[in-house]
Amino acid sequence: MLAEMPQLATHIDRTLMMVYIFSAFVCHILSACYHTFKGTDQDGFTAWYRLDLTGIVVLIAGSNFVGIYNAFYDDKMWILIYNIPLAIMLGMAVFFTNAPAYRGRKYDEHRTLTLAASVAIGGLPMAHWLFFRCWGLECFWKAAWPTLILGFCYGMGFVFFYFRIPECFAPGRFDTYLHSHQWWHVFVFAAAYVWLHGMLRYTSWRVNSPLPADLAAAANATNVV
Ligand SMILES: [Zn+2]
Repeated sequence: MLAEMPQLATHIDRTLMMVYIFSAFVCHILSACYHTFKGTDQDGFTAWYRLDLTGIVVLIAGSNFVGIYNAFYDDKMWILIYNIPLAIMLGMAVFFTNAPAYRGRKYDEHRTLTLAASVAIGGLPMAHWLFFRCWGLECFWKAAWPTLILGFCYGMGFVFFYFRIPECFAPGRFDTYLHSHQWWHVFVFAAAYVWLHGMLRYTSWRVNSPLPADLAAAANATNVV
């Protein structure tokens, strides 16, 4: 996959893409472990379940780090402004998922809402990117399709997971197939796949394109002539 990175990509571009790919591997390996080893023992089940949810947090972190960098690579202040609250919320999601004092189903809402808040905070820089940095420019659609599909997949995953669709309509009927947790993983996998290819293509386009400042300078030079 990294072979698809453009030759002009910097070490930061390559490192963040590797971090993202690693986060997707961690998420799906932990998920595969949970669904393989959860068994019937309650303690073992909940321990693997915590790792399953922690893997999602790792993927959200990796997705946002590469996305925020691609969006604000020439303005480090915005990278900090968006990454700091995001890191705090992701830390809270890990805390509510793993802290012994917050185990049990009565804290499910804390876990789900901190995960959803992490995704929502990640939505702010994406909206900023699309509507304030790329609006009316060539980069708009290059940034829009991965961002919108990612948002749709995470949104649908959250709705299915939180409202326990479809088993809420017919309890017991979807325990083996089509359970909300399976839908959740389908949406997360689709989001990870689209984001990978979206970020690879965006990075290729970005590093082979002139900076906005260069475009402005070129436009001024043309006006002067
Ligand atoms: Zn799972």
